[in-house]
Amino acid sequence: MILVTGGAGYIGSHYVQYALEQGEQVVVLDNLVFGHREAVPEGVELITGDMGDTDLMNKIFTEHNIDAVVHFAAYAYVGESVTDPCKYYNNNTVATLNVLDAMRRHKVNRFVFSSTCATFGNPVRVPMDEEHPQSPINPYGQSKYFVEQILRAYHHAYGFQFVSLRYFNAAGADPKGRIGESHDPETHLIPLIMQTAQGKRQHIGIFGTDYDTPDGTCIRDYIHILDLAQAHDLALKRLRSGGESAFYNLGTEQGYSVREVVSVCEKVCGRKIAVQELPRRAGDPPRLVASASRAKKELGWQPRFENLEEIAQTAWNWETSRRY
Ligand code: UDP
Repeated sequence: MILVTGGAGYIGSHYVQYALEQGEQVVVLDNLVFGHREAVPEGVELITGDMGDTDLMNKIFTEHNIDAVVHFAAYAYVGESVTDPCKYYNNNTVATLNVLDAMRRHKVNRFVFSSTCATFGNPVRVPMDEEHPQSPINPYGQSKYFVEQILRAYHHAYGFQFVSLRYFNAAGADPKGRIGESHDPETHLIPLIMQTAQGKRQHIGIFGTDYDTPDGTCIRDYIHILDLAQAHDLALKRLRSGGESAFYNLGTEQGYSVREVVSVCEKVCGRKIAVQELPRRAGDPPRLVASASRAKKELGWQPRFENLEEIAQTAWNWETSRRY
């Protein structure tokens, strides 16, 4: 059985759905601060609590036959991490350490970690492969980077087996419309555009139009949530079959500018979307695009959603029929 921390959140819940379809048994731990009870499928046990609670972690490992942890639970607002770093270091790093130590006590040593391209900081070359230097520029990226360092040390010292997956921009929703993205507050580009298309917002603000990119707006690599889910499943299969611990970058290897994203979404939603040009947002590098060849080669990972239109279509379906 797999313990999925943060399994009621955006990425975690899509993994849970995917893992069930692969025949896995899962138990979800989520404090529901950002997660949604409705995102956890019927029949899956949801334990509502904190991963920093040592007694709770002991109880979970004692009462369930867990052979691996897939760890999504984290706070993920970059801006907030700058104004309240304590919250991010405590939750994303210290509480994760608590999970790892509970695993040690209960002799569970397979760990799949939800990491991020934010561990790299400003790109010195694009596309970014796993050897790109890591120099995170905000506490969010640092809080995940620290966990990666802890994993290296635990691997070396205690024989921990891990795969750390560094996602670029997660986007889209379950194509069957059962679950999707629902953040409060919402800060991500695609859902904000969709909400603008629905008339819930007057316009989408574009953060910076003077970047050194072809149309002056930031370029990102948007990867479908189910493709991320698939990578976690493959990562766990790798660990279970005795594969080496590893780090993988996950993206489609294609960059889209903010203006291009708006234009693709206009096509998908079938309506014009009003934009407002705004100053740059602090901490946004001009271009982030993954090189994902290592994941493809070693995990056999193949993203199925290769173009942004398909990704945006699933996001639009969700936005127009969302349950939470
Ligand atoms: N962005 C934007 N307006 C918004 C939200 C985001 O122009 O209201 C831009 C942002 O500057 C970045 C890209 O869209 O270049 C993706 O941002 P998002 O917050 O979705 O993800 P991030 O790249 O921060 O993980």
